Amino acid sequence: QEKANLDARSRDDLRCPIVVIMGHVDTGKTKLLDKIRKTNVQDNEAGGITQQIGATYFEKKTLETQTARLNETEKVELTVPGMLVIDTPGHESFTNLRSRGSSLCDVAILVVDLMHGLEQQTIESLTMLRKRGVPFVVALNKVDRCYAWKTCKDSPIRDALKEQEEGTISEFRSRSTNAKVQLQEQGVNSNLYWEMGDEDWTNSDFIPLVPTSAITGEGVQDILLLLCQIAQRKIWKQLMWCANLQCTVLEVKAIDGLGMTVDILVVNGYLREGDKAVFCTLDGPVVTEIRGLLTPPPSREMRVKADYIHHKEVKGALGVKVIGNNLEKVMAGTSVLVVGPNDEEEDIKAEVMSDLTNLEDKLSTD
Ligand code: GDP
Repeated sequence: QEKANLDARSRDDLRCPIVVIMGHVDTGKTKLLDKIRKTNVQDNEAGGITQQIGATYFEKKTLETQTARLNETEKVELTVPGMLVIDTPGHESFTNLRSRGSSLCDVAILVVDLMHGLEQQTIESLTMLRKRGVPFVVALNKVDRCYAWKTCKDSPIRDALKEQEEGTISEFRSRSTNAKVQLQEQGVNSNLYWEMGDEDWTNSDFIPLVPTSAITGEGVQDILLLLCQIAQRKIWKQLMWCANLQCTVLEVKAIDGLGMTVDILVVNGYLREGDKAVFCTLDGPVVTEIRGLLTPPPSREMRVKADYIHHKEVKGALGVKVIGNNLEKVMAGTSVLVVGPNDEEEDIKAEVMSDLTNLEDKLSTD
């Protein structure tokens, strides 16, 4: 069955790419995430942006609206069904990407402060991303701090640059060239993304640079469209939706009224209420029935404690909170599997526990 599921995958049925935001402290990761959530969207809920567990989900139509102005010239046809942006920039498990395989994220935004250039954690993130083979774009953030910058709210970056005086452009040029040289020193070839040739696109070692302002929104459309393009042009194979369950534990936490819960990222497949799930703990595998699959209520403002939406079934990729018994010792970064009708429970347990050895191996080689 597993093989049949793999064979059934198709380029016409992609899942949402999972995006993480990384970079040095104070470069603007949190602000950029906020801005991405709000750009050109009057009403978040009507605009098809929903809060999930640990992630924000953007519907395809929202991505289309948010990138509409830029796409008048770029004419990129979106084939991804949406995008999932992880909500915790700088969170340790994401900065380390320490999880099985590449299941934790598909593509990253590495945020650099244009005024500061590459910093310590930028270089660490860079090393990590390349080691794990995760494609990324570099956001040259705080472009609005170039001398005498004229704000062009939420506008595509090239339109904004056209509005600037020569002195501003010249500062922008020299700072972005500086970032490019610093990246080169780390062995990374890069270029402002609109100056990339087609051959650069097919070269996996070539990194697109996008100037952004997380405060006034210039370049945010460009980032979104670039992420879609990377998803569709570079990593579509890994994004082909597959019915085989693939999920990773993000966090284990106690919630008032619910007891111990496990937040997980379902990358592929379905997870259902009543499923017999196997989790990994330091004391060995835990087999438990899934009693609830929860996502936050649709409106953030309306959020009251324990007021979650319950799902009978969820489909990857998405973030969901799981309730069940005996979840206290589940380890973040490990996989969750379900015992199917034709599975041997012992095999599934062994597979889940193999994560622990893999994690330890990774820790010792990092
Ligand atoms: P993080 O630590 O990377 O998450 O950084 P934050 O998002 O908390 O931002 C750090 C500081 O930089 C805050 O004071 C932000 O207001 C400021 N900041 C972030 N992005 C921009 C930007 O694009 N332009 C300007 N002028 N300030 C920014």
